Formats: sequence, C-alpha cells, structure tokens
Amino acid sequence: MRMPLIAGNWKMNGSLSLVEEFGRAFAGISLPVNVEVALMVPFPFLGAAGQALGETAVTVGAQTLSDRPSGAFTGEVSGAMLRECGARLVLVGHSERRALFGEDDAAVLARVQAALHAGLTPVLCVGETLEEREAERTEAVVLGQVEAVFDALDAAERARLVVAYEPVWAIGTGRTASPEQAQAVHAAIRSCLARYDAGLAGGMRLLYGGSMKADNAAELLAQPDIDGGLVGGASLKVDDFLAICQSAG
Ligand code: 13P
Repeated sequence: MRMPLIAGNWKMNGSLSLVEEFGRAFAGISLPVNVEVALMVPFPFLGAAGQALGETAVTVGAQTLSDRPSGAFTGEVSGAMLRECGARLVLVGHSERRALFGEDDAAVLARVQAALHAGLTPVLCVGETLEEREAERTEAVVLGQVEAVFDALDAAERARLVVAYEPVWAIGTGRTASPEQAQAVHAAIRSCLARYDAGLAGGMRLLYGGSMKADNAAELLAQPDIDGGLVGGASLKVDDFLAICQSAG
C-alpha cells in the first residue's frame, strides 16, 4: 500500500509569519493518519519551519540543492546543510529549475545523487510543456526525464525516490490536467518503472502537480496511479492546503 504524500511547494513565497501561522494551524488539528504531509519552504525558513512544525505530523523539505557536497561554490546549499537544518525531502528538477536555471537531465541526476548521499528523499519532478503535449510527445518527454535518473541509480537508490508529474502547462495557470490526462501519464510512468523492477513500480509514490486546489484534489487523488500532490499556490493558504490534505485521507 502506498502512503499518499501531499507536499506544498512555497516556491519563492511566504514569510516567517506564514511559517508560524502554519505551525499554529497544524498543531491544532489532526491530519488523516494515512497521509504524509510535507512543506517545501525557501532555505531561510527551514529552521523556523522545523521548530514551528516540530510537534506536528508535517515534514519539512527544501526546493533544490547543490550537486556538490561542500567547497567554494558561493551561494550554493548542500544536502548535508539541508539535513542539518531539518529538511527530510528535497525537490529536484522542478520545471522552473529546468526552464529558468538551465538544469538539464545531467544536472538533475547529479542533484538526485547528492540528495541521496545526504540522506534526503529526492522528489524528482518531471513534465512536458504545452508544445510537447500538442506534438504528442508527452510520454517520450516524461519517460525520458524519468529514465535519465533511474538508469543511473542502483535498486536501493531508486526505491528511495518520489516522482512528481507536473505538466508545465498546468503550473500556476489554473489549468489543471483532467484526472484522465493525469492518470494516463502516471500509469505510463509506473509501467516504465516496472521495466526496472515490479516491486519498485508498485511501491513508488507518484504525485500530481499543477493547479491542484481544494476543489479538484479529491478527483485527482481518486485515480489509481495518483498517490498524492505537489501543491504550489494553494499551499500558501492554511485552509486550502489543509483541505487538500484532508481529501487525501
Ligand atoms: P501550482 O499549484 O501553483 O500550479 O504549482 C504547482 C507546482 O509547480 C508545484 O511544484
């Protein structure tokens, strides 16, 4: 049985007071016991988020990491530093990193390996652009991004990942993939993983991301191969994010 994971990605948003608001809200409610919840906050908020959410069931994560362990890399943050500040998960290969910061498949793989080395759970993000979807290249693009990482890992490493499918055209646009569209890609990813190992495919959590909101989460999460959500905008409001977490239970 795969435990659903709802992960909020604050991107470059939020504030220390929002961290505290989430801490107070989540301390006061009980989340469904069969759902894992995580918040991926900007680097400077990691310590505060660990403190504010420490007594709750919410895990703290980061949004990227360096591919190097340490050294003269001004401005970079290592996986070991993230762990020391309380992060347990880290997003890798988010489409904004790929498109705006030039992270190609090799850079994504290096960051996945750095995250694994630091004892973090990498949440590998994959997804096609609108142009790629319209050219009927969705599966080729998405499975190519998956294989670029999974081909280079051993069986024990592969089993430590989470995969998030985020169609680029659905991110921040209010245009969600339909449950059928999302399910079709999730099923293709799971079949692709089955080529490595049936057990890996059966156990791997596949999250959907892209304009997931309180009012569309339940139908997406009801799909057989959707095991959770990666939530952007709606993770910045306590009530919206809580409602999505509740609908995963
Ligand atoms: P939105 O939920 O704002 O579309 O963002 C999705 C996303 O990119 C999460 O990583």
